[in-house]
Amino acid sequence: MNVPFTDLKKQNELIREEAISSITDIIDNSSFILGKSVKEFEEDFAAEHGVKHCIAVSSGTDANHLALWANGITHGDEVIIPANTFIATAWGATLCGAVPVFADCDARSYNIDPVKAEEKITDRTKAIVAVHLYGQTADINNLRDTAERKNILLIEDAAQAHIAEYKGKKAGSLSAAASFSFYPGKNLGAFGEGGAVTTDNDELAKKIRMLRDHGSEKKYYHEFFGHNYRMEGIQGAVLGLKLKHLSEWTEKRRAAASKYRELLSGIEQITLPEEMDYGKHVYHLFVILFSKRDELQNYLNENGISTGLHYPVPLHLQKCFSHLGYRKNDFPVTEKIAEQCLSLPMFPDISDDQINYVCEKIKHFLKR
Ligand SMILES: *Cc1c(COP(=O)(O)O)cnc(C)c1O
Repeated sequence: MNVPFTDLKKQNELIREEAISSITDIIDNSSFILGKSVKEFEEDFAAEHGVKHCIAVSSGTDANHLALWANGITHGDEVIIPANTFIATAWGATLCGAVPVFADCDARSYNIDPVKAEEKITDRTKAIVAVHLYGQTADINNLRDTAERKNILLIEDAAQAHIAEYKGKKAGSLSAAASFSFYPGKNLGAFGEGGAVTTDNDELAKKIRMLRDHGSEKKYYHEFFGHNYRMEGIQGAVLGLKLKHLSEWTEKRRAAASKYRELLSGIEQITLPEEMDYGKHVYHLFVILFSKRDELQNYLNENGISTGLHYPVPLHLQKCFSHLGYRKNDFPVTEKIAEQCLSLPMFPDISDDQINYVCEKIKHFLKR
């Protein structure tokens, strides 16, 4: 049997006809950039996340940048981010000219540890970015408490956490501003690149809209420096169609996670992901820890099962940040995850047979 790591074919088929008709409309109207389809998607996405504003942009990375840029983060500032995340989280600070300051993650949630984050605060610290990694929200109340006491900003990177929840509230509505990605493989994916920033703050939303479009509200009148971070009309149309299915797809991911949990529970050598009782995990990824990860990954690969590593090199050990002077053993929890993590196949339409097969092969490997 072949089990891909992710498979978009079924969801593409589901919206194919509607998507073609929407794309045809966009061609007929030449509304390729922003326009009605993007505006409608922004409204629906904001409503879905219980937040006042959604500003659709060109990628999650650009959304990371905008969320900090619009808040005035600049040269000389420090921004605390988890060492355990995708590199793009760090680009947000870096593109503002600020310095990313890494912190270790919590051993249960794998998200930034609020105590470790607080230890990193200096008089130059301007913000903490909480990443909702793998689809589980970070410990937001404790992070917000720290941010408020220290008078710094709290931002979310919700690229992996569409409609994930923290104490009944949606990711993206839990801080001053949040970034989302619609990279095709994310829980809500475009037919290309895409991202968004959400916020409840009217003024901030206005600023983000202008930054996304060359620092202008009125064409050719530029009030401040900006960039071209606009979303394409086609992506807005596709995302609007897919958003209607997101709840159902999320429940399917959660059911697949339960199935994995049922079949892999009680295996001592394997650490399963923990669902924190404060939230609702949306399982962008189902990440297990295992000491002989590379051997297991190869074995699964030989048996037609594709897996992923999220992420094999933590940010503080990336070559691009070597000038910051971090060393191995700086962040033991993050480094253990990097060495032992294995992301099992996870997508809404993964079948019980496929999950059974993956778990059977894992058990077989352990028995050898
Ligand atoms: C995917 C991702 C991003 C970047 O999104 P792109 O749309 O690929 O630019 C940022 N942060 C995290 C945590 C991600 O997983």
